[in-house]
Amino acid sequence: MALKTLAYNVCLPTQNTFFAYSSLTAVANQATLTVINALSANSGIMKIRTLSGPLPQPRYQRCNECDTLFILPELLNRQSAYCPRCNAQVEKGHEWSLTRLTSLAVAMLLLMPFAFFQPLISIRLLGTRIDANLMEGIWQMTQQGHPITASMVAFCTIGAPVTLAGSILYLYLGERLGMNLKPVLLMLDRLKEWVMLDIYLIGMAVACIKVKEYADINVGMALVAYLAVTVLATLTLIHINVEQLWQRFYPQPKAKGPPSTLQLCLSCNFTGHADARGRCPRCHVVIRPRRRQSLQKTWAALIASTVLLLPANLLPISVIYANGQRMEDTIFSGVVSLASSGNMPIAAIVFIASVLVPFTKVIVLLTLLLSIHFKTQHSLKTRIRLLRVITWIGRWSMLDLFVISLMMSLVNRDQLLSFTMGPAAFYFGAAVILTLLAVHWLDSRLIWDAHATGNAEYTD
Ligand SMILES: [Zn+2]
Ligand SMILES: [Zn+2]
Repeated sequence: MALKTLAYNVCLPTQNTFFAYSSLTAVANQATLTVINALSANSGIMKIRTLSGPLPQPRYQRCNECDTLFILPELLNRQSAYCPRCNAQVEKGHEWSLTRLTSLAVAMLLLMPFAFFQPLISIRLLGTRIDANLMEGIWQMTQQGHPITASMVAFCTIGAPVTLAGSILYLYLGERLGMNLKPVLLMLDRLKEWVMLDIYLIGMAVACIKVKEYADINVGMALVAYLAVTVLATLTLIHINVEQLWQRFYPQPKAKGPPSTLQLCLSCNFTGHADARGRCPRCHVVIRPRRRQSLQKTWAALIASTVLLLPANLLPISVIYANGQRMEDTIFSGVVSLASSGNMPIAAIVFIASVLVPFTKVIVLLTLLLSIHFKTQHSLKTRIRLLRVITWIGRWSMLDLFVISLMMSLVNRDQLLSFTMGPAAFYFGAAVILTLLAVHWLDSRLIWDAHATGNAEYTD
């Protein structure tokens, strides 16, 4: 009878598979297996015959959003795995090879000098031709005394894309030269949201519409290169599979021991047991049950960004000198003037990116933090969805800063017509970056932990 039970366990395609397999290997040698075969043939249990080789050990994984433990099946190409509890995407199937990604990275690096330093758009203003390029806008900002805001723009439009392409090239060459690839792999996942080439492109459209009042616009030669870099960077971000690269460069043995004690490393997304020093066996970052001081850091970033949003919205964000007259625009009055000049779609985009998104993020973060604090149990699904929405949409708030940087390089004819940055731009940029960090620092597993029962379900 004991042998029959073993056979039954092996046939179960559920979590029991692991225990069934391990118990079989522990007790059964080849002789007993033959007995099982004979017995099963008589009693009609045939499936035990498939045990000619060892069963694949299940791969356990914890969800990085809700900490649920589950067995991850082998994924086919283009398949994705989702958490059975909170429906978060936990893994993508096989994606583009490193060789293909490297060729994209090389193409990006070759096109980048043209895209960043050559004229993207040019205008004819007061009889002279002015070219605007990405670097020129950042340089104008620095020259006019705003180096911090300029470096924010530079990081999102030049720094992050160059690092992305450089990292892929490093992985390709580093593998052959035997270099340490861990720091680059750790960085790649975090870099994704900071590559803002697509937002800069929309910024260009907004700047063109604003400048159209003063001058004729022509498309610059480098715009094609810029578009190509944007498409290549977007394709890279969609098709890069960092987990797959980790598995390729640093394969780990399947975790042994009771599955319930497995821990998730938030840095590299590996589920396993910490080593003797409490570190993740794959990336060597210390594993903690929850992100350290998550609530304190999120509160600090949230309060700081709320305070900064006040001057960002009350002070002028751009100043235009036209024919000796000084005209100031706050974020909101800029939207109103865009709308009144008949550019409703653009006005709506700027309004959503610069007004709606930052304030929504602050309100949602405040709600989430309070719900954790007061151990709220209802509307869990809505709260998790809101967190996902603000994580996805947050980066679009940088749009206004990109528009200003472009306008500064386009409209700068000193005495007659000039466009400069108002004091609000720095506060606005700082508030946007702080809200991005606040969302990053908030450990969503705390929202699930706040449920007293401990087995919260993904429902409202
Ligand atoms: Zn989950
Ligand atoms: Zn790790």
